[in-house]
Amino acid sequence: MTSSIDAVLEAARAHCAAEIVPNVDGWNKAGVWPRGASDKAGAAGLLGLYAPEVFGGQGLSLGDGIQVFEQLGKGDGAYAFALSMHNICTFATCGYGTDAFKEKWARALTSGRKLANFALTEPQSGSDAANMYTRAVVKDGKWVINGAKAWVSLAGEADVYLTVVKTSGAPGHKDMAMIAIPKDTPGLSFGPLYDTPSYKFLPLAEMYLDNVEVPEENIILPIGQGLQGALMAIDIARTSIASGCCGLIETALDTALSYAKNRKMFQGVNLDLDGIQWMLGDVATDLEASRLLYKAAAKALGTPEGPVMAAHAKKFVPDAAVRAANTCTQVMGGSGLLAQYGMDRLSRLSQMLRIVDGTTEISRVVIGRALQKRAEGLPDLPMPKGYGE
Ligand SMILES: Cc1cc2nc3c(=O)[nH]c(=O)nc-3n(C[C@H](O)[C@H](O)[C@H](O)COP(=O)(O)OP(=O)(O)OC[C@H]3O[C@@H](n4cnc5c(N)ncnc54)[C@H](O)[C@@H]3O)c2cc1C
Repeated sequence: MTSSIDAVLEAARAHCAAEIVPNVDGWNKAGVWPRGASDKAGAAGLLGLYAPEVFGGQGLSLGDGIQVFEQLGKGDGAYAFALSMHNICTFATCGYGTDAFKEKWARALTSGRKLANFALTEPQSGSDAANMYTRAVVKDGKWVINGAKAWVSLAGEADVYLTVVKTSGAPGHKDMAMIAIPKDTPGLSFGPLYDTPSYKFLPLAEMYLDNVEVPEENIILPIGQGLQGALMAIDIARTSIASGCCGLIETALDTALSYAKNRKMFQGVNLDLDGIQWMLGDVATDLEASRLLYKAAAKALGTPEGPVMAAHAKKFVPDAAVRAANTCTQVMGGSGLLAQYGMDRLSRLSQMLRIVDGTTEISRVVIGRALQKRAEGLPDLPMPKGYGE
């Protein structure tokens, strides 16, 4: 029996109110991943959303489960992002891992006793993901891996890294695979943490692989399926980010409303001014549109429309979040710049969410290619005279 989505969303709301909202500023000051909070997220059933019950998961569909990140995103977008990546890795483990790997890891991941993340990006291959070098040599049932990954979230904190590797020197992605590398594997190490000005509790670093040896039972996606599998994971991640951004927009809007209804000016309050209502009205429209879009994208995951719908959501919603954070800061005047209201944190988070898991521009590329395909199916319009053949 699967969990009801209403119960899981209520658990996410409660986790946000009890763990994220009161503590996020402290987490950022400490600059340390809040493992106690993610343990509680696991206990609340938020870390195995799409995993079957037989492995301790909630058995939710992607379309339902992704709504959890809207609730968590009201508290903090970076925390919501990290837990969304863990959930995708857990989904991949339970769905595609070998029986031996599932036996060792599935329940540990769904319960949150162990955390997982995904390593695709390399210093020379961000948007151009197919240009990666990290190489596995397959020998006698063992994979020996050398290379370096960049921008690994939960670096050093996650217990296992689902890593995309090449298995030959051939160009292209036909030789790519995904294999799980446990943190304590000899030869695996991390560089110094990146110095980010915000979301400091999310450890981000390069990951080095120096003759790292893992058994074949750790294969998540076999040779030939590594990049396509990673791209499917990224579609889920893009939609999850759009969901988290809706939480961020709602928090920005409610903060501005809570302030503007009390800020006295011109014999009334700030919220009485038409101009202020229009600014906040635009944010409210963006929020409604964003919710519809990410939910439609979540329903399309796994269908042929999945990638382009995820791209629409990833293109539109983080941009709407940037606008919301900026507009709501502006509505609050100088007070919008004070740390106590958290608007600066929302601005930095929304910008980060435009970049991670495929930038806004890469979403435009995906949409542009889909439009080219659509054009192929349309009749040719005759060109005006003089436009050539
Ligand atoms: C906070 C954070 C956490 C992350 N966590 C992870 C993680 O856990 N695992 C992981 O594998 N990766 C992770 N990443 C990496 C992330 O996915 C990449 O940063 C992202 O894909 C962009 O790559 P890049 O930073 O190398 O930018 P680049 O690829 O160098 O892009 C630079 C600029 O060029 C633009 N651009 C690129 N291609 C085109 C094009 N064809 N047309 C027009 N413009 C283009 C981009 O939009 C961008 O504006 C994380 C990143 C961040 C910021």
